[in-house]
Amino acid sequence: MHLKSLTVKGFKSFASATTLRLEPGITCVVGPNGSGKSNVVDAIAWVLGEQGAKALRGGKMEDVIFAGTAGRAPLGRAEVTLTIDNGDGALPIDYTEVSITRRMFRDGASEYEINNNQCRLLDIQELLSDSGIGREMHIIVGQGRLDAMLHAKPEDRRSFIEEAAGVLKHRKRKEKAVRKLDAMQTNLNRLNDLTAELR
Ligand code: ATP
Repeated sequence: MHLKSLTVKGFKSFASATTLRLEPGITCVVGPNGSGKSNVVDAIAWVLGEQGAKALRGGKMEDVIFAGTAGRAPLGRAEVTLTIDNGDGALPIDYTEVSITRRMFRDGASEYEINNNQCRLLDIQELLSDSGIGREMHIIVGQGRLDAMLHAKPEDRRSFIEEAAGVLKHRKRKEKAVRKLDAMQTNLNRLNDLTAELR
């Protein structure tokens, strides 16, 4: 599995549709300060489901939409598509190429697609979680993140490892199931009380 291409349109400094083709191996993005190198990495994090504006170096999520320049008007939506080569079947889906799209409008509405079919963010997270590309985005190590990881508390470091190993998804599912069971028990208790009152 490797990233094949990234298309950004209306995302941060990329007003026009721009496609970056990525070959297997190492890709270097070079350019002057402020030319948008980190915005490329932000686009990858965003399309994979990043929900924190701060992680994308903005104040609010709408800041990812092209805000305009002296010569170009602001745009109404941001769109990023990441195409992943799934020739080795690392992603549990019957396609050798998987494209994930995220779109966001100024009113805050968001859309997600897998291979041009509309889906939920959860579907993308589930698709990626077994591949080690999880919602915590540990595959993206930004400036200063390495230091933070080395100095993390043991339990935080454990969650990095669990996510990479694909355990975190099952832990989250278990937590969800336990919450449902608790709610069910509360309902049962209530039902028993009502039955006792009626007797
Ligand atoms: P450095 O080498 O200094 O780290 P860089 O190449 O990584 O720089 P970025 O941080 O990716 O640069 O890009 C910063 C540029 O993106 C700034 O010029 C900023 O104005 C522009 N930018 C960020 N968000 C938006 C937006 N929503 N609309 C338009 N331009 C934006």
